[in-house]
Amino acid sequence: MKIIMLGAPGAGKGTQAKMIAEKYQIPHISTGDIFRANIKNGTQLGMEAKKYMDQGLLVPDELTVKILLDRVAQEDCKNGYVLDGFPRTIPQAEVLDKALAGLGEAIDYAINVDVPDENIVRRMSGRRACLSCGATYHVEHIPPRQEGICDHCGQALVLRDDDKPETVQNRLKVYHEQTQPLIDFYTAKGVLRTVDGTADMKDVFEEIVSILK
Ligand code: ADP
Ligand code: ADP
Ligand code: ZN
Repeated sequence: MKIIMLGAPGAGKGTQAKMIAEKYQIPHISTGDIFRANIKNGTQLGMEAKKYMDQGLLVPDELTVKILLDRVAQEDCKNGYVLDGFPRTIPQAEVLDKALAGLGEAIDYAINVDVPDENIVRRMSGRRACLSCGATYHVEHIPPRQEGICDHCGQALVLRDDDKPETVQNRLKVYHEQTQPLIDFYTAKGVLRTVDGTADMKDVFEEIVSILK
């Protein structure tokens, strides 16, 4: 099963993608996590990506597409995957589509997690991330068991550099301009399903599971 998560920054794509990955035993692939891991390790790719990420801009398609295609070609992706944060532009979606078509494959579901802009800034300021394992929490809605510490790996949680309100506004603008057109793209392919992302995390997941059945 090949699934794409669509939605604004902070809509809950990562939160839901992790639960999907666990339930269906497929890899969760987040381009944002891949970039953050590279930044943390000080790689060339990380340094290049950081320039864009810190401004709330998208990393150029050439860089992003290569990383993603390499990743989905790996052995653990044989039975499918859930993509979180990719594609984010029409050209990215077209490259993925062509690569899959070449293998006689296609995306099965594009899950659009719908959350209005008003809710997003509040969500992002409360988001806390683990840069070691990619887990995310929310100080009010989804707190870790111990404040400031990741439940899964015990590392310290951080407020992401790009989750500051000024940057979030930019990211929302970029989302509406460059990513939202993907909703029409996947609607035309007959695979788009929209879920109400303002519901409780567990209820959103139930709705997604009922779609994937
Ligand atoms: P979000 O919480 O906004 O969904 P992500 O972790 O998916 O955040 O992405 C963080 C940043 O990484 C983006 O704002 C962008 O700069 C970069 N990024 C991630 N995925 C992509 C992509 N597919 N194309 C271009 N840039 C990307
Ligand atoms: P995205 O990957 O789309 O950027 P995340 O999954 O990181 O979004 O979620 C953004 C923030 O909102 C995180 O702090 C997360 O804990 C929180 N969150 C996720 N889903 C919900 C929900 N259904 N209700 C309230 N908060 C949520
Ligand atoms: Zn962790």
